[in-house]
Amino acid sequence: MLTWKDVINFSVVGNPKPDRRVEKTTDQWKELLTSEQFRITRQKGTERPHSGALCSIYDEGKYNCMCCNTPLFDSTIKFSSGTGWPSFTQPIKTNVIKYEKDIAFGMVRVEVMCNTCDAHLGHVFPDGPEPSGLRYCINSESMQLEKEVINDN
Ligand SMILES: [Zn+2]
Repeated sequence: MLTWKDVINFSVVGNPKPDRRVEKTTDQWKELLTSEQFRITRQKGTERPHSGALCSIYDEGKYNCMCCNTPLFDSTIKFSSGTGWPSFTQPIKTNVIKYEKDIAFGMVRVEVMCNTCDAHLGHVFPDGPEPSGLRYCINSESMQLEKEVINDN
């Protein structure tokens, strides 16, 4: 389980190696994404709180990167933080997320990005629920929900 210490360590010393890399030009990303998705994921934008489609959805499934479809989070680690953005306590796997120190707006925060394609996802904070104490605060527009297929036979 990752803790705040691991997050700080990744942002200072370096991130784990991803299983694969997806790299595209700005024009190629523009073609694949809506303008809002492009603004958030490729230009480090933030959606308005409570505006995201995935904010109040708790269906079973995986939350994949909007840009490269890599699974990042899943519904078992999603929680209601009341902040207006989808929130998680852990990534699905350690090496799917990349951490970088962000000093924009006069605050020191840790930015979280997709480790496969460098899409901006949101930020991680040390005020989440136990046991990890982490709160990954992620834009809805950065993710697509891959619903679990329930086999009823
Ligand atoms: Zn990605």
